[in-house]
Amino acid sequence: METPKLLDPFARPVTYLRLSVTDRCDFRCTYCMAENMTFLPKKDLLTLEELDRICTAFIGLGVRKLRITGGEPLVRKGIMGFFEGMGRHLDSGALDELTLTTNGSQLHRFASDLYAAGVRRVNISLDTLNEDKFADITRWGRLPQVLKGIDAALDAGLKVKINAVALKGFNEDEVFDLTSWCADKGMDLTFIEVMPMGDMGTENRIDQYWPLTELSDKLATRFTLSELDESTGGPARYVRLEETGQKIGFITPLTHNFCESCNRVRMSCTGQLYTCLGHDGMSDLRAPLRASDDDAALTEAIHAAIARKPKGHDFDYSRQGIQGQTIRHMNHTGG
Ligand code: SAM
Ligand code: SF4
Repeated sequence: METPKLLDPFARPVTYLRLSVTDRCDFRCTYCMAENMTFLPKKDLLTLEELDRICTAFIGLGVRKLRITGGEPLVRKGIMGFFEGMGRHLDSGALDELTLTTNGSQLHRFASDLYAAGVRRVNISLDTLNEDKFADITRWGRLPQVLKGIDAALDAGLKVKINAVALKGFNEDEVFDLTSWCADKGMDLTFIEVMPMGDMGTENRIDQYWPLTELSDKLATRFTLSELDESTGGPARYVRLEETGQKIGFITPLTHNFCESCNRVRMSCTGQLYTCLGHDGMSDLRAPLRASDDDAALTEAIHAAIARKPKGHDFDYSRQGIQGQTIRHMNHTGG
């Protein structure tokens, strides 16, 4: 096997980049951002050409999987051109997978173009199938538009995974509905534990916190859950529901330690590289990128950042208050 080109100090190869292409969004999910969010001035954002250059540099250094996120990635003007550009790395075999996480609002417009660019899987976030609850939790989102987007994605041939944030008192009663709806449509389903991101008011997040152990116990009242031995290098664990054959994921960054196998880094739309979800330490890649047209300084900055990747994070709701709370918003680095 070829030696990995990006190895962190704990001998973990970095093969996965999650890139936020915008901090803007057409929704205002209550657990993600404030309604009157102030967004970055456009001039601070990397241009689409710069995003392409950085991704290409990472791919040259051994990144095999690229996930585009945001904010809402599909609201960034011209983003389809970026996806088409990244398609060349799939064609050359340098990249294994190009994928995105989206709220689904624009998929009815873009699903087939995404497929044409080489995207084969999308994660679509959806916490409820109830139209009123959907409008409440997303503030500006409308369920029928997202459902139309999901159907467009399936029709285009994209494999869809639904990501639902588990929220106490909000979608506890929908676990079985979401599960069977996904089964009917042939979609995978992953539940996400709400995370202490940003400065959204600590108390609310603790009130909404619904441990996935409880959610999984609830599923077990109706289904036989078999643990799947699948490691993604991330905070997800998977079970199979024996009765339906369905695969269900649980993303539990707060209660499970997944750091030993971490293979990923995150980059904001301004070129800040975060090497750990739970640490605010970041490395600026925009300055070395803009310093010269050749990639020597950029490559050096990437290596230097990876050499500082922390061993792990320290979120913990069980202590008084929230320890290990980071100050950045989820839409900044994309989760
Ligand atoms: N706008 C896109 C979307 O909603 O899918 C991509 C960006 S969004 C920040 C990525 C994921 O983060 C979504 O699945 C969203 O539900 C999740 N998320 C946002 N805030 C969160 C929080 N505080 N805790 C857990 N997940 C969160
Ligand atoms: Fe927008 Fe996604 Fe955040 Fe919701 S979770 S506000 S859709 S970025």
